[in-house]
Amino acid sequence: MQGVDNKFPGKDLSRDDIEHKIPLVAKNSPDHRTTVTAGGVAFGGALVPVLAGPNTVENEALIVKTAIGVKKAGAHMLRGGAFKPLTFPYRSPKFFEPREDGLKWLQVAKQETGLPIVTEVMEISKIEVVAANCDMLQIGTRNMQNYPLLTEVGKTGMPVMLKRGYGASLRDWLMAAEYIALEHDRLGQEPQIVLCERGVVANHTHRETSRFLLDLQVIPAAQEVTHLPVMSDPSHATFWQPWVKSMMLASIAAGADALMLEVHPDPKNAAVDPLQCSSLEQFDDIMRACRPVAQAVGRTVDA
Ligand code: PEP
Ligand code: MN
Repeated sequence: MQGVDNKFPGKDLSRDDIEHKIPLVAKNSPDHRTTVTAGGVAFGGALVPVLAGPNTVENEALIVKTAIGVKKAGAHMLRGGAFKPLTFPYRSPKFFEPREDGLKWLQVAKQETGLPIVTEVMEISKIEVVAANCDMLQIGTRNMQNYPLLTEVGKTGMPVMLKRGYGASLRDWLMAAEYIALEHDRLGQEPQIVLCERGVVANHTHRETSRFLLDLQVIPAAQEVTHLPVMSDPSHATFWQPWVKSMMLASIAAGADALMLEVHPDPKNAAVDPLQCSSLEQFDDIMRACRPVAQAVGRTVDA
C-alpha cells in the first residue's frame, strides 16, 4: 500500500492514515474497485458516465429542454441545483432559489427523458425531500467537511457524489468520504460514494474570473488509495467554457471514472455562472470528442 511512515500527520496521507483511519474507503488490494450504481447508471466500470445540466433548475421548461438535449447528445444523468449554495447572499434579479419547486421540475424532466437525477443537498432538514426526488445526492464543495450533514446523508444509504472542498487535501477528502462510508457500512452496504474533483484554489488560474485549477493529478492519486470511483468537473474548475472541452478530454485520459459539466440551452442568459456553462450544441461537440479519447484509454462514454 502507498504512503510513508509519518508520526505527525500533515496534509497528505500517511501509511497510518490509510491503514487505520480510512479502512472503509481505502483499497484492500491494488485492483480493488467498487461499482456505485445510481438510477441504473454504474460508476467505476468501463463506462464513464456523463452528468450534465444547468447550475440551477430555473423553471420547468428550461430543465425539460435541457434534459431532452443532453440525453440526445449522450448524457447518462441530469444534474441541476434546486437548493443552491451561492458565494454571496445578494441574488441577481434573474435568480431565485427554486428549492422544492426545483425538485418537482427535475422529476418532470426525469419522467420526460428517463434520465436519473443528481442534485445537491445542503440542509439536514431537507435530506428527506431531496432524497425522495433524486437518484444521487450531491454534497457540494462548501459542505465537504460538514460532518453532521455527511453522517445524515450516509444514513439514507443513497448513492452520494462527494465534491472535494476547494481547499481540501486528498487526506481531508477521503476522511470526509469515510464518514459517509461508515453509515453505509452500518446499513450493511458497500460504500456508495463517487468522489468529484471540481477545482482547487491555486496561486495562478490564468484568468481573472477563474478562481480554481482542475487538479488532474488527484485522479490517479485518489485511485491509488481508494476503491471509490473518481469524477471530474471541468465546469466549476475552469469557470470558463472555452476550457471545458479540453479539460473533459484530459480528465478521461487521466483516468476519470465519470464527468460532470454544466449545460444550459441559453448560456448567456443563465441565471448563475453564465461564463462556464456549455450550450446544448457545445455539449454535443464535447461528447463527440470524448468518444475516441475514452476508447483510447479502454473506456467508453456510450451506455
Ligand atoms: C454545482 O455543482 O453547481 C456546485 C455548486 O458545485 P461546487 O459545490 O463544486 O461549487
Ligand atoms: Mn454550479
